[in-house]
Amino acid sequence: ASIFENVPTAPEDVIFALSAAYKADTVPEKVNLGADQILVNDQSLDHEYLPILGLDSFRKASVKLILGADSKAIAEGRAGSAQCISGTGAVYTGARFLSLHYPIKGATCYISKPTWANHRAIFEGVGIPVKEYPYWDPVSRGLDLKGMLATMEEAPNGSIFLMHPCAHNPTGVDPTPDQWKQIADALEAKGHFTFFDTAYQGFASGSLDKDAYSVRYFAERGFEMFIAQSYSKNFGLYSERAGNLTIVARTPEIKKSIESQIAKIQRAVISNPPAYGARVVSTVLNDEKLYSEWEDNLSTMANRIIDMRKAVFEELTRLGTPGTWDHIVSQIGMFSFTGLTTPQVKVMKEKYHIYLTDNGRISMAGLNTGNCKYFASAVDDVVR
Ligand code: PMP
Repeated sequence: ASIFENVPTAPEDVIFALSAAYKADTVPEKVNLGADQILVNDQSLDHEYLPILGLDSFRKASVKLILGADSKAIAEGRAGSAQCISGTGAVYTGARFLSLHYPIKGATCYISKPTWANHRAIFEGVGIPVKEYPYWDPVSRGLDLKGMLATMEEAPNGSIFLMHPCAHNPTGVDPTPDQWKQIADALEAKGHFTFFDTAYQGFASGSLDKDAYSVRYFAERGFEMFIAQSYSKNFGLYSERAGNLTIVARTPEIKKSIESQIAKIQRAVISNPPAYGARVVSTVLNDEKLYSEWEDNLSTMANRIIDMRKAVFEELTRLGTPGTWDHIVSQIGMFSFTGLTTPQVKVMKEKYHIYLTDNGRISMAGLNTGNCKYFASAVDDVVR
């Protein structure tokens, strides 16, 4: 007798079943539109090291994705790149470069209040002092533009400003095009350096171009800047660590020097970036059909989140919940700062079993047509 006699056979994984069916199919016209499968079937791929700065086709496509196909910086050969360990690695690599080569010694990096917690950790980790600029206004439950601009004006010339181009994490509040203009004016006037961190391109509005608006606007105005890009969310490649640091420099020669120094940094930290995720991204970005399929997927996901925002807002309005809730629909991306206080969050958890962070941030992705009314009724109760 076996001790495993009673182990039942588990059902087959549907994704693998699909791949197996595709493989077994003998019809020559068969088509499989998964980038994964294209890679598996490519006999030319091996496990050799990638170059220190990463996969060339991935880097070029990443720069084009964020700056746009018609970018002047690309046409003029001023846009460079380095494949990094996802968004985190791209922020780190850019920060490390600045810690070694930024001409103003002791310059401070200003991060939004609040922001993704790793921003402070990364910059402090490379020895760059960190301060905050106001961002979230708890009263209007929107952007504190005045506070933000005032800090930019007061900061010493040539400070570093780290900003989220779209779908600000954790508030979900983004500047409008007119507000970006005012921000660009303030940064330009003081000679501050712009460092963008974009982890959600395509996820905010559902349009890759719209979500790149701020970056492209800054590039058009001639800013020198770094842009950290992550493919964790918009490709679902979390564990593959696919990311890129885009560099927009004043001249092609300066771009080359920056890339050479970044290669030196990268060599000492990871030697070479990982290939698999970069190959998946490159396959999709460089194939017209796969690219448009990916765009459709992004817009489906973004619109689902936008629909959930509307549903929650409508239910709160129907219930006559005290307070203003416009911010639920005006915020964008995966996260929403609800404005619920820490004691209210406690009741949400203990009485309603709804889990959100103590600062009142919810992930919109966790809401669906089945639970959004339940969520709204709980909010209605805790604020009364
Ligand atoms: N920047 C921001 C603002 C983020 O929210 C995230 C992911 N949470 C990242 C960077 C980086 O994520 P990853 O390293 O997985 O690309």
